[in-house]
Amino acid sequence: MRANSRDRDLRDRAAAVIPGGMFGHQSTRLLPDDYPQFFSRAKGARLWDADGNELLDFMCAYGPNLMGYADDAIDDAYVSRMRQGDTMTGPTGLIVELAEQFTRMVTHADWAIFCKNGGDATQIALMTARAHTGRKTVVLAKGAYHGAAPWCATRPNGVTPEDKANQVFCVYNDIASLEAAVAAAGDDLAAIFAAPMKHDAFTDQVLPDPAYARRARELCDSTGALLVVDDVRAGLRIARDCSWSAVGVQPDLSSWGKCFANGHPISALLGANKAKRAAAQIFTTGSFWYQAAPMAAALETLRRVRETDYLEHMEGLGTRLRDGLAERAAASGFGFRQTGPVTMPLFLFDEDPDLRKGFFWSSQMLKRGVYVHPWHNMFLCAAMTPADIDQALDAAEDSFVALKAQAGSLEPVAKMSFLLA
Ligand code: PMP
Repeated sequence: MRANSRDRDLRDRAAAVIPGGMFGHQSTRLLPDDYPQFFSRAKGARLWDADGNELLDFMCAYGPNLMGYADDAIDDAYVSRMRQGDTMTGPTGLIVELAEQFTRMVTHADWAIFCKNGGDATQIALMTARAHTGRKTVVLAKGAYHGAAPWCATRPNGVTPEDKANQVFCVYNDIASLEAAVAAAGDDLAAIFAAPMKHDAFTDQVLPDPAYARRARELCDSTGALLVVDDVRAGLRIARDCSWSAVGVQPDLSSWGKCFANGHPISALLGANKAKRAAAQIFTTGSFWYQAAPMAAALETLRRVRETDYLEHMEGLGTRLRDGLAERAAASGFGFRQTGPVTMPLFLFDEDPDLRKGFFWSSQMLKRGVYVHPWHNMFLCAAMTPADIDQALDAAEDSFVALKAQAGSLEPVAKMSFLLA
């Protein structure tokens, strides 16, 4: 039995002082009941929950852990900069150096604005596109996540119809539907907002069709709208460039966050020269957006991105994981879908509408010291080793066996019943 008394105690206390016991994407509300809510430390590819249980972590903090948790060189850069002054009356020269380095790495980018969360960057992208075009309407793919601000919030509570005005939706990778959405925007199209791939929760991930990406580019060019790629989640796990460079399409704006300072708080909007005037005209800011320490961490992370084989290493491990899981799932007779790039996998079982198989299997993995997610895409990090992948495969083999023994008698997952509606 895994110890969980500290986690349970913290949950009880949190219920009194934190709305819902925990808010946002790090709430365990929609995870199996035995998943820990609280953690105490992390190093490399591993984290320890509040009760001290060690876990090989395939969530990587929902993306920010790229090079390994508590990476010595990146954290040294952070700490030593922090000791010299972090939030000050103005930025340090690191902001210029980081803008130079980042724009050199990302083909379409000529300038950068730094902020804190991915949602800041997507919001600035929207404002820049509206300022650039003098128009209001944005085309988005149905189900794509761009943050939690009212304009893109995924729940209706606390959001007005006006917050969500001037939006037209299309189906990802469906060119006819993209064209129809652009036509519906008429002469008011400010931007097409594109996810680098379909990485929505609860459903198979889908890579971008290059023809769809090219059509989005053409439609922006013919209407004068800006093409935005939201690389907050996928950035640096598909390419050392904007993720759509892999399909040969350059956007005008790209939003970045999560991992480019390996977990330290910084995000960015990168843009092409044509949108620079508009970006200079909008007012966007935050008390902590000029912090020097996350910029020092970002410079060290980007150096590693440029100078090491971190991406090829993660791809090799991802392939080993994908092939190994496919083999083990087939041997135990389960239809087990693994979608998305190998560095950002998502697992779903066939014939599992309320995820009862996925929940049971994920809990079995957790019992064996491996943290996987039953309905959100996961992330590999560069600190993982072939031995880590083999540990995950061993755990998976046993978990498939355990699932097979139980499959006929699994209870419905009440918290997932909304999926059946
Ligand atoms: N865009 C995408 C594609 C994301 O995945 C996320 C976060 N999961 C965001 C934007 C928002 O980022 P943040 O939570 O840092 O505001």
